[in-house]
Amino acid sequence: MKILRGIPASPGVAIGKVFFVNRALSRSVHSTVSKEHIDEEVAAFLRAVARSKEQIQTIRDGVKDQSTDHYQILSVHLALLEDSMLIDQTTRLIRENQFKADWAFNKVLQNLLETFHRIEDKYLRERGQDLRQIGHRVLENLAGRPMESVASIKEPVVVIAHDLSPADTAQIWKSPVLGFATDVGSKTSHTAITARSLGIPAVVGLERVTAEFAENEEVVVDGEEGVVILRPTPETVKEYTVKQKAYALRIRDLAKFAKLPAVTRDGKTLKLLANIEFLEEADIALRSGADGVGLYRTEFLYLNRRDLPSEEEHFTTYCRIAEKFGRHPVTIRTLDLGGDKFVSQLELAEEMNPALGLRAIRFCLRERDIFKQQLRAILRASSYGQVQMMFPMISGVGELRAALTVVDEARSELRKRRISYDRHLRVGIMVEIPSAAIVADQLAREVDFFSIGTNDLIQYVLAIDRVNEHVSYLYEPLHPAILRLIRRIVDAGHDAGIPVAMCGEMAGEPLYSYVLLGLGMDEWSMNATSIPRVKRILRKAVAYEAREFVGELLAHTTAAEIAGNLMKRLGELFPEERF
Ligand code: PEP
Ligand code: MG
Repeated sequence: MKILRGIPASPGVAIGKVFFVNRALSRSVHSTVSKEHIDEEVAAFLRAVARSKEQIQTIRDGVKDQSTDHYQILSVHLALLEDSMLIDQTTRLIRENQFKADWAFNKVLQNLLETFHRIEDKYLRERGQDLRQIGHRVLENLAGRPMESVASIKEPVVVIAHDLSPADTAQIWKSPVLGFATDVGSKTSHTAITARSLGIPAVVGLERVTAEFAENEEVVVDGEEGVVILRPTPETVKEYTVKQKAYALRIRDLAKFAKLPAVTRDGKTLKLLANIEFLEEADIALRSGADGVGLYRTEFLYLNRRDLPSEEEHFTTYCRIAEKFGRHPVTIRTLDLGGDKFVSQLELAEEMNPALGLRAIRFCLRERDIFKQQLRAILRASSYGQVQMMFPMISGVGELRAALTVVDEARSELRKRRISYDRHLRVGIMVEIPSAAIVADQLAREVDFFSIGTNDLIQYVLAIDRVNEHVSYLYEPLHPAILRLIRRIVDAGHDAGIPVAMCGEMAGEPLYSYVLLGLGMDEWSMNATSIPRVKRILRKAVAYEAREFVGELLAHTTAAEIAGNLMKRLGELFPEERF
């Protein structure tokens, strides 16, 4: 039995067989073969290429509709594998330099990838991604290792991976995955966020789990404690089965809070909304008692495909969500691609500092047609429900106005097309960049609402990479700088008469509910599964007491002191809760 400790990413216990999803491009080292083995090496390489082609062809045969993106991608992969440059250059390196096949192939691949990287044409540049994927497949076949993907999972299993890309996690939604464990990641990485919204136990940031497991053996994932147990003894399995049942009972107990209003003991009514990434989550959100959607991350519409979603596709999806929520608000966040949303091994970001790069609203203001297409769809959907529009990563008033100008253009285009939209559509921003927090008073005069994105705000204020497991211990929501900044944003919003929401992961952590109440937060948006628990806490709290308490907390100078005082108070107020 081997016990590994990582970062608890999503609560619950999963017990099952390991399923390894290999995402890292296999690393090859410089190695050579003796002259007499050259022919064998070339033959092995050609076999690996042939095998890769067969695999792709089989997958492609299974795709019924030839017009789908999936079919097209597989065809591109096949064409790349038939490219004589890739094959000839590799065989030449094996023959002339006596390189081992994997080393030779990797060298050719890296050269080609660099060439792709420099191509001006965006479409062609993106083919580098395909090249990486087939490169991965060939190397796996050369090493004799099977290539597994989340989509191929048919039996209930526990996924182990170095990392999962957003594209992988989007597949988990449709697969019988019991839980997962990854080497990298943190509580706010998208893998973790998706796990929580799907209610799948997960531990991330384990650093070495892919080096320790063996295929097909049993594993236990305890997403509450952040523990993964490889090769558990029968006693351990029994112990965790009990824990699993207890967790299920706790969840069932909490369910009764879903439909109750989120009102404090002194009568302050709060709104608890859901963060969603897929249309399919809307029902879970409604069942969990969400008062609407506080954050719909639309980037998932763009994943697992090569082309861009059309205006119609955006529109249909938004309408379906808006219709499901009826009179409740649905906050559609405009595209936030980039940064951590490209973090997997296979989707290497091209920038040195992707979190500080061309992402979110910056990308949209550059790619105006893509942006406007989405804006028109949001505007059109506003006729079918309580749709709200929200911009990510706004840094100040100038950028906000630039975005609003594009919204005006989208509006006038619709008017020309005689398409109706809600003229009173509420437009808000995420406050997740320190500069926006600092000028929150100025921004508040030009928008209808704020939503604090703590995942990024904390990353930028504390200079802590939100997905890096090595510095995750410094990622402290209770840091005095963070609490002061939240207070500043809330006060600025309230002074201007607009509501202030929080949609970062901090909003869904029961540990912070009391503090956020004291800071004056109006709306909490979180993964739907956390709603009943946060509601239970808020219903037992007294808002004015929380406000006084937070005033005292803000006088402390370290996160540790604040946490200590908070835990003491929570223990007194909510003795039956586990924080
Ligand atoms: C945030 O940054 O807090 C947020 C909610 O957005 P995302 O996690 O999608 O960056
Ligand atoms: Mg963000």
